[in-house]
Amino acid sequence: MPEALNPFEIAQRQLDEAAELLGLDEATHQLLRWPRREVRVTIPLRMDDGDVRVFHGYRVQYNDARGPTKGGLRWHPDETLDTVRAMAAWMTWKTAVVDIPLGGGNGGITCNPKELSVTERERLARGYVRALYRLIDEDTDVMAPDVYTDAQVMAWMMDEYSILRGHNVPGIITGKPVTLGGSAGRPDAAARGGVYTVREAARVLNIELKGATAAIQGYGHVGRALHRLAEEMLGMKVVALSDSQGGVYSTDGIPYEDGSAWKRKTGSVVDMPFTQPISNAQLLELDVTVLFPAALENVITASNAGNVRARIVAELANGPTTPEADVVLHQNGVYVIPDILCNAGGVTVSYFEQVQNAYNFYWELDEVYQRLDARMTAAFQKVHQMAVRRGVHNRLAAYLVAVQRVAEACKLRGWV
Ligand code: GLU
Repeated sequence: MPEALNPFEIAQRQLDEAAELLGLDEATHQLLRWPRREVRVTIPLRMDDGDVRVFHGYRVQYNDARGPTKGGLRWHPDETLDTVRAMAAWMTWKTAVVDIPLGGGNGGITCNPKELSVTERERLARGYVRALYRLIDEDTDVMAPDVYTDAQVMAWMMDEYSILRGHNVPGIITGKPVTLGGSAGRPDAAARGGVYTVREAARVLNIELKGATAAIQGYGHVGRALHRLAEEMLGMKVVALSDSQGGVYSTDGIPYEDGSAWKRKTGSVVDMPFTQPISNAQLLELDVTVLFPAALENVITASNAGNVRARIVAELANGPTTPEADVVLHQNGVYVIPDILCNAGGVTVSYFEQVQNAYNFYWELDEVYQRLDARMTAAFQKVHQMAVRRGVHNRLAAYLVAVQRVAEACKLRGWV
């Protein structure tokens, strides 16, 4: 039977495994298997040429036992209710792993933003907020950037929401530009948090990262920040990069300055001077110290997991590894830093942004970094210890930590 690749089914399966090991009662398990609320909206969009096109959007408020639901908004042609449900479930576990007082949610619009003009994108962002206005607020459900949405999209959405409310409401969304109440350090927070966890993993594995090799799959916002920070903070040599068009490889290493400049200039990493072409599939199987999947879900599956030669897989993407692949990687001694831990730096600084918005008092960059490091390091230790103690792979260990915390909150509230 071919491997099931529906992300929500995968998310449910991951929960099922943790629920069994935790001995979770049936009602709690069932409650955690499904979103508490999901909404589908249509957004009629006036295109620049005067025509109207109808877009489909989603928002899933998965679980708010530990606090307001929190999670990104993705604009992607393959977005479906199930991808949004999966992301929302993963956000629930993510906020619990790093122990911030938030629940999990996620949103999406099925569209190809590369085919939309700036003004069309603005109207789409504003239309989405109008469609969801009654179901969100800063104490209920707070959005943030994800694949193909950025600080500008957050700014438009914050503005639209503020217009509807009749006053400035910066806390409705995070990942805003700093001028509009965004937090210092938010743009590279996911990558930075991931780098902290790689630093910790190298410590427990006794690996020297300085001069060691890395490969980055996905060269969007997170992948580029990762490239810079892997060099700057870990002293690593990044030998391969890829994006949706293809990839490049160089044994001498690809400096961040070159990679980012080429991507900026041409819109892709392919054909970068002084590199050899490589496919996304080949990149995942390179003999490197750290492999960073930083694009989309389901890239390490049953069919290629056996060929992964990296010592550490640091999941900056959400859901890059399937449950079957997890088992194979674990058997082969590949140390996986699972998405719900590895990329939790983004939502952690989003939480800091909410706190700063609530107090209308803003922190210096150093304070953000130091608090982020403390949270990520503590979460890493907790997960690592759980994995060692229970003899399970790191993803399952992260789930054990997270699910227990969410289940406890549900119980204390008297829901189950
Ligand atoms: N989209 C990001 C994630 O998957 C950030 C979510 C947030 O900051 O709320 O973690």
